[in-house]
Amino acid sequence: MKGRVQGVGFRPAVHRLAVLLELNGFVLNDTLGVTIELQGQAQRIDEFLKRLTTLDRPPLAEIKSWEVLDIPVSEGEKGFTIRKSQAEGAVLSEVSADVATCADCLSELWNKKDFRYRYPFINCTNCGPRYSIIKTIPYDRPNTTMSAFEMCAACAAQYHDVADRRFHAQPVACPRCGPKVWLADRTGKPLLTGNDEVIAEAARLLRAGRVVAIKGVGGFHLACDALNNDAVLRLRQRKRRDYKPFAMMAASLDAVRKYALVDRAAEEALMSPESPIVLLSRKPDAAIAPAVAEGTSTLGFMLCYAPLHHLLFAEGLDVLVMTSGNISDEPLICRNELALERLSDVADAFLMHDREIYRQVDDSIVHLVAGSPVLLRRARGYVPTPIYMAEKSPQDVLAAGADLKNTFCLVKQNQLILSEHIGDLEDAEVYHHYVRSIEHLKGLFEVQPQVVACDLHPGYLSTQYAESLAATRVIEVQHHWAHIASVLAEHELAGPVIGLACDGTGYGTDGAIWGCECMIASLGGFERFGHLSYYPLAGGDRASQEAIRPLVSLLRQAYGEHFTLAEFTWLLERIEPDHKKLRLTLEQIDRGINTVNTSSLGRVFDAVAAMIGLGECNHFDAQLPMFLESIAQPGVEDRYEYDLHHRSGEPVQLSLRKTLQGLAGDLRRSEAPAIVSTKFHNTLAEALLAMAKEARESTRLETTALSGGVFCNRYLANRLTLRLKQEGFAVLLNRDVPSNDGGIALGQAAIAAHILNQGT
Ligand code: ZN
Ligand code: ZN
Ligand code: FE
Repeated sequence: MKGRVQGVGFRPAVHRLAVLLELNGFVLNDTLGVTIELQGQAQRIDEFLKRLTTLDRPPLAEIKSWEVLDIPVSEGEKGFTIRKSQAEGAVLSEVSADVATCADCLSELWNKKDFRYRYPFINCTNCGPRYSIIKTIPYDRPNTTMSAFEMCAACAAQYHDVADRRFHAQPVACPRCGPKVWLADRTGKPLLTGNDEVIAEAARLLRAGRVVAIKGVGGFHLACDALNNDAVLRLRQRKRRDYKPFAMMAASLDAVRKYALVDRAAEEALMSPESPIVLLSRKPDAAIAPAVAEGTSTLGFMLCYAPLHHLLFAEGLDVLVMTSGNISDEPLICRNELALERLSDVADAFLMHDREIYRQVDDSIVHLVAGSPVLLRRARGYVPTPIYMAEKSPQDVLAAGADLKNTFCLVKQNQLILSEHIGDLEDAEVYHHYVRSIEHLKGLFEVQPQVVACDLHPGYLSTQYAESLAATRVIEVQHHWAHIASVLAEHELAGPVIGLACDGTGYGTDGAIWGCECMIASLGGFERFGHLSYYPLAGGDRASQEAIRPLVSLLRQAYGEHFTLAEFTWLLERIEPDHKKLRLTLEQIDRGINTVNTSSLGRVFDAVAAMIGLGECNHFDAQLPMFLESIAQPGVEDRYEYDLHHRSGEPVQLSLRKTLQGLAGDLRRSEAPAIVSTKFHNTLAEALLAMAKEARESTRLETTALSGGVFCNRYLANRLTLRLKQEGFAVLLNRDVPSNDGGIALGQAAIAAHILNQGT
C-alpha cells in the first residue's frame, strides 16, 4: 500500500483488524509504503481490505494506491505480527509530522471522568508532537524529549496495549506522570503553578491587554488580544516588526467567521490535522485591530492545535495574535532559557512548560488558489513527510536551496525530504540554524549525501556552503529552472513542459538577474524560450526595497529620450521627494554605473504599486506587490498593450513599454487605483499566455508549469490558469511546496536525482 501509511498508526490498525477477522500473517514498513501478508479465508481477506481502506483506516492515513498479489502458502502462519521495517539495506525513517489534537483526545480533555481531564499535554497515536520532540532515531520514547518523564502504570498500560489508541504513542502522558505548565514573570521567576490556575491567569493577562509568551508545539508564540489595538501596537514595537501582518488564532470556525470569509475549502484547511495558518479574505467590517494587518485584504487565521490552546481559549478568549516568538527575522525560539533571555523585553509574562522542544518548527501558511490549498510556508504539520518520486536516486543528495525563505532537501532512494522553512540566511543566527538543521536531518533520515545540488548564484551563502562540503559532485541549478522543476517533482513528472517562472530575482546563466522567464524545461535541462526585456536596475540590494529604482528605469525604457524628470514630477515627487536622488538614479541608469540588467517581474510590481500610490518601499518581502494585488477587482476585463519582439537566434522578448505608457496615462487621468491595478494584472496574464502559445507552436508541448514567487499572487495565478485552460493548455501549479523560494530546494533535488539516474 502506498500513500501516507507510515508513522500514522497504520500498522497497529492493520494488526487490530487482522486479529478481529482471525487472519494470520504480518505487516511491515518498506520503502514503497506498507506490505501486509495475510493468510485466511478469501472472503475475510476481502472484508479486511474493504474495511482497512474505508471505515478502519486510521484518521491520519491516506492510501493512494494498493496492489494485491497471490503468493503460494509456504507454511501455516500462526497469529499476526508487526514486523521490523525492511528497506533493502537502509531502514526507512518513521519520523512523522506534528499533528493537531484529535477529536477523541478533545472529548477526553473535556470529560470529567477521564484521568486526563483538562490535561494540557493529552495526545495519542493520532495526534500530538512528533518531529519537534525527536532527538535521534529510532523513534522511541528514550530518543525523544519525553525521555525525561517516566510513564505511570495507567499510561504504560495503554502504551503497551495493541488495541488501545495510545499503543506506541511515544509522547503519552497524564497529569500524574507527564509535563506541567507554569507562569513566569519576565525575569523567569515562577508566579503560579497548577495547570488550571496558570491557564486562568494567562487568559486574564491576555484579556487585560498584556503580551504573553506561550510555549507551544514547535516553539514560543507571542500572544495578545487581536481586538485591542494598543496591545497589538505594543507587541509590534517590542518585537521590532513594524509592518508584516500578524497571524491569529481562534478556537472555532464560528469565531473566525466573525472576521473573515470561510468557504468550504478554507474550512477544510483550518480543520486539517496539519492545522496551518490560512489566509482568508477579510470581512469589510471586521473588528480586528487595524495594527494586526495594515493595508492587506487578507487575514491569517489558525485554529487551536494543542490542548494547551484549547484550555486557554476556553477561559473566554475570542481571537489572539499568535506570532512567532522571536525578534524580527531571527530563528523561532523554542527553549525556556532562551525565551527568557531574548523575549524579556517583549512579553509581560511567560506561559512555560517542561516538555522540551528539540526542533523549532514554525507554523505553516496556506492560501487557497482555485479552491485548493497551496502552501506558502511549509513547516509544522507537513515536515518531514516526504514527497515521493517515480524513480529511485542511485545516490543520496543534499539540495542546499536558496538564500531567502530557505528550505533544504535530502534525497534518499525515492523520497524527497524537504526541510521546514528555515528563513533568510543573511541573518547569522539563521545561517547557523541552517547548518545545524542539515546535520540533524541527515542523522534522522540516515542520509549521507555524496552529491550536492545548489543555486547558480556564486554569492549565495547556500551555494558557498554546498561548495565547501566534501562532496564528490556539485550540481549547480539555475534558479528558475529549479522553480519549474519543483512543480514537475510534485506532479511526479520529468517534463518537458512550457515553464512560466515569474519571480523576484534569480541568477541567470548570462550573469543577468532573471525573473520573468518562459522556459522549455524538463528535469534534464532547459532552454530559455522567452523573457521580459531586460531593464537596468540601479543600486544592488536596495533595489529590491526602494520602488523608485525599478520605476525610473522602466519609465526611461518606456519613453526613451522623451523621459525627463521634469515631465514626470507629478508622478515621481510623491514617491521620492529628494530631487537630487532622482537625478542620481537616472544618471546611474543612463551611464550604467553600478547597475545590473534584469528581467525581474517582482520589481515591475514594486514600480507599479508605487506609481499607483500604494507605498514607496518594501518593508518586508513583497509588501508592495501584496498591496497591489489586494486592490485588484474581479469583473474588470480591460488591459493595457504589450509587445512580443522576435530576433532570430534569441529568446522572445516581452516588452512592457506600452503597458507602462498606458498605465501612466490612466493615472494622469486620475483613473481609480483598483482599475489600474486590475488592468496591469490582466496585461501580464495575456502577455504570459501569448508567450506560452508561441512556445506551443514551436514545440508542440501542451502542458504549462507555473512557479516563482510572483505566483503567490492569487489574482494572477487564477487569471493566468483560467486563460491558459481556455486556450487548451494543461496547467500545473505548486500545491505541496511554496512557489516562492521555499520550493527551490525541492526542484534542485529532483533535478539532481534525475541527472544521477540518467548517468549524465
Ligand atoms: Zn489524539
Ligand atoms: Zn501517566
Ligand atoms: Fe525565486
